[in-house]
Amino acid sequence: MPTTKDLDAKYYMPAFGRNMEIVRGKGSHVWDSTGNKYLDLVAGIAVCSTGHCHPAVTAAICKQAQMLIHCSNLYYVPGQAELAAKLSKASELGKVFFSNSGAEANDAAIKLAIRHTGRHEFVSFEHDFHGRTVGSLACTHKPAIREPFEPLGVPCKFSPYGDLEALKSVVTKKTAAVIFEPIQGETGVIIPPEDFIPGIRDICDDAGALMVCDEVQTGMGRTGKWFAFQHSSVKPDIISFAKGVASGIPMGGIIARDGLEFTAGEHGSTFAGGPIACAAGLATFDVIKSALPRVAAKGERFRSGLAGLNPRARGLMVGFTAGEKAPAIADYCREHGLLINVAGGVNVRLVPPLIIENREIDQAVGIINEAADSV
Ligand SMILES: *Cc1c(COP(=O)(O)O)cnc(C)c1O
Repeated sequence: MPTTKDLDAKYYMPAFGRNMEIVRGKGSHVWDSTGNKYLDLVAGIAVCSTGHCHPAVTAAICKQAQMLIHCSNLYYVPGQAELAAKLSKASELGKVFFSNSGAEANDAAIKLAIRHTGRHEFVSFEHDFHGRTVGSLACTHKPAIREPFEPLGVPCKFSPYGDLEALKSVVTKKTAAVIFEPIQGETGVIIPPEDFIPGIRDICDDAGALMVCDEVQTGMGRTGKWFAFQHSSVKPDIISFAKGVASGIPMGGIIARDGLEFTAGEHGSTFAGGPIACAAGLATFDVIKSALPRVAAKGERFRSGLAGLNPRARGLMVGFTAGEKAPAIADYCREHGLLINVAGGVNVRLVPPLIIENREIDQAVGIINEAADSV
């Protein structure tokens, strides 16, 4: 019998470096194929917001799977309008359009910005990540993953993150939108200065450009509010969301301010906002809603527990810079039953389920501190 590793090596394109097989999850824990148990601070990269296989989410998925799995957006889709209403209200913005992923959500935002402004140029930030589709990749900074595919057809300039003066000099009357992460996730939890998001708003308004806030990682309660922009005093024109929205059933989407919307035929998707994703999303929404009041305090618990490592935290989006030791810290943690993630090569990123318990945080903090001391 070939092992999973053998089959993967022979039949799956080697785009991912991996060596571990996770076969089961419950709450904040996962088990690998050899029976080892791990406390999971990766959570499918901020996707398993309600933990693994939350009973309410699993039940909603199973129930919907017995009723209707797919019908197409040619018809009203069960749960779709109801979930859109909840997301619209939670974001205090306007209408929703669903996608199947974060990258696709950003592509929808890019299309809506082009359509609305009649402009074609975009501005993003150094070390921003917006996805891997052709459009979203054009706005993703990391040269190693973008440049081999250029030209991508969506012209985008990258300005230093957190620097409003620099931004002013690249946003022009040709800019369709500034697309940004309110906290940079993939590069390792970089939190910008407080005036950054309001400053982007002003610069966009002066140039007639749209402000597109990529909440794919920061959204759905991750930072202690429904969306990270809500820590600021301003509202974007469009936000994108995905990761935490349906507990791991593929789903993403955009929410735009009132009056900003696709008209008939301007955008579409076969699978997006399907019955199972919406059922999972509705169940996830309720679980997040009840967990949300405690997310900020849980983040503070990580921050104070990891104080010796100079952590950056907003809610349960936590990171610290570990330099070259980052991979060794992750390895040590794994050997001691804890999954954490290295982001941007030198940063450790912690994005646990929002339902993580205080004793689990204390346990994780103990292992991470021990790892940092011993590697
Ligand atoms: C993960 C991520 C994306 C891409 O989402 P996919 O579902 O992988 O396409 C886009 N933007 C941000 C900020 C992300 O963290």
